[in-house]
Amino acid sequence: MHDLGHKCGVFAVSDHTDAAELAYYGLYALQHRGQESAGIAGLIDGRIKSYVGMGLVGEVFKTDYFQNFKRARTAIAHTRYSTAGSSMLRNAQPITVDTRRGQISVAHNGNLTNGLALRQELEERGSIFQTTSDSEVILHLLAHPDYDHAEDPWVPALARLEGAFCYVGLTNDRLIAARDRHGYRPLSIGRKDGAWLIASETCAFDMIGAEYYDDVKPGELVSIKDGQLERRFFVEKRNLNTNLAHCVFEHVYFARPDSMIFGRSVHSSRTEMGKQLAREHPAQADVVVAVPDSGNAAALGYSMESGIPLDHGFVRNHYVGRSFIQPSQQQRAVAVKIKLNANRPVVEGKRVVVVDDSIIRGTTSRSRMARLWEAGAKEVHLRISCPPTRHACFFGIDFPSEDELIANQKTVEQIRDYLEVDSVGYLSEAGLLKAVNDGTSFCTACFSGKYRTPTPQGFSKLAAEC
Ligand code: SF4
Repeated sequence: MHDLGHKCGVFAVSDHTDAAELAYYGLYALQHRGQESAGIAGLIDGRIKSYVGMGLVGEVFKTDYFQNFKRARTAIAHTRYSTAGSSMLRNAQPITVDTRRGQISVAHNGNLTNGLALRQELEERGSIFQTTSDSEVILHLLAHPDYDHAEDPWVPALARLEGAFCYVGLTNDRLIAARDRHGYRPLSIGRKDGAWLIASETCAFDMIGAEYYDDVKPGELVSIKDGQLERRFFVEKRNLNTNLAHCVFEHVYFARPDSMIFGRSVHSSRTEMGKQLAREHPAQADVVVAVPDSGNAAALGYSMESGIPLDHGFVRNHYVGRSFIQPSQQQRAVAVKIKLNANRPVVEGKRVVVVDDSIIRGTTSRSRMARLWEAGAKEVHLRISCPPTRHACFFGIDFPSEDELIANQKTVEQIRDYLEVDSVGYLSEAGLLKAVNDGTSFCTACFSGKYRTPTPQGFSKLAAEC
């Protein structure tokens, strides 16, 4: 997989003596969701202290973090992916501000489709924004006098947000977690030693020896104070669960295979996608190979269903950052070349089925297919474990513009010719939904163009940062 960016991972821990360390290791588990910046905000003696920096988790947090945050018992954490041009420290999260309600810190995963409109409205009423990120909007809403009489200002503030969001938030006395009413992005609750945890993906719980407890439900606000967890909905009951839009791409590519996403194992989904792909697009071949790592489970499924042996046709260089996270096109191209090499003994003289999870611009796939030919493959049959990606995402994934998406510009036959392979087969949308064991609750708009919720007016990358 190539060319796409996640838009952030969030983690939180409440009332644990090792909160600073747990937040740090939790972020490590979520590193795949964003590599541009990382940050942790901790509650120490009733005050929020923040530590953010540019780079990978292992690069950002130094010894002084562990020294200065060791007394924190509650913390929120964030790892961020940025679009080109906005890779800057002031957009790193959590964002922490002093307001007339006290300190508030937030970390966000998703895109607010009305973020720009809300920002303009708030600026007209006097708000001064400190970042170019739509994530900051919630802070200004929370501080606004409009909600002075609300029992909990988070409820009316969250209710104003449209689009995709998972928030973790910290005030001077409690931890908050909230998920948009459509459930676009995953957000789960965990437990460890009596403490409460929140994470974008359940793999973060595994890493720190915690247990999965439940998902934050779409439209739900979770509040944790003095070890007590309270749950309520910030949208009216009649508007709940009527228009779910879980991002199917989390199962196709974004989430880690050892996570449970929307109540289902990502690894199982991907293996089923591969099996279904073998049924829909069989091939006469000698070997099945995966484009590692996200094609691994689908290739396994393809091999299991077809009976064609699976082998390691590509060798990945683990010391190169994920190619699509590089902010400039030039850096991306270099990283792609270094990252994967074809394994000649596996593919030479063979009819090869190669399984990948998607084709975005096509340039990366083309160079990978060329590598198989260079290594002596006799035939190359490319199989993709999702339908052609033709449309933009406005809900937290950084797709290129539609005219850069190869499937938006070319037919499958033209894509086959461009990639210089013998055949290309995409999983159907029905097959994909079957593989994730669900027919109704998933967003598939980047394939179908059928958006389940309104797309933004005047959408701007400036207003869609995480
Ligand atoms: S448009 Fe695609 S990537 Fe975006 S939320 Fe929907 S399924 Fe996910």
